[in-house]
Amino acid sequence: MSQRTLVLLKPDAVSRGLIGEIVGRVERKAGWRITALELRTLERATLETHYAEHVGRPFYEPLIEFMASGPSVAMVVEGERVIEGLRTLAGPTDPIAAAPGSVRGDFGTVVRENLIHASDSEESAEREMKIFFPHLSN
Ligand code: UDP
Repeated sequence: MSQRTLVLLKPDAVSRGLIGEIVGRVERKAGWRITALELRTLERATLETHYAEHVGRPFYEPLIEFMASGPSVAMVVEGERVIEGLRTLAGPTDPIAAAPGSVRGDFGTVVRENLIHASDSEESAEREMKIFFPHLSN
């Protein structure tokens, strides 16, 4: 089942020079393709839309500040079961609980600065692709 998903390499991943490392892992998965990719510092308004489900949580404000603190890479990845696959490649939210071999497990220690975002469902993927790549057609 071919799918599309929205991936962000967060400002910590970019500032630590891990773009190539993470993009390389995505590219090496058989049959997955990067079909959109952009490096930019994300606007607060964009991030507030993206993280709307977390409004009011104690980590919300620091999360938005962190995500706006420097450039991120936004990309769309297409391929077989790519939504579930990118979540596996990323690892669970808490990098200390994430297995070595996953991006968060290999490179992270802090829950907020956990390097990567990947859509968690088909609905989220459709919603999030429109936020970061509004010009993309279906
Ligand atoms: N986050 C945080 N503190 C928390 C939970 C989450 O700073 O206690 C941040 C973390 O960067 C995470 C993002 O908020 O990736 C979104 O949280 P979500 O639960 O959607 O996790 P994800 O789907 O990214 O694993």
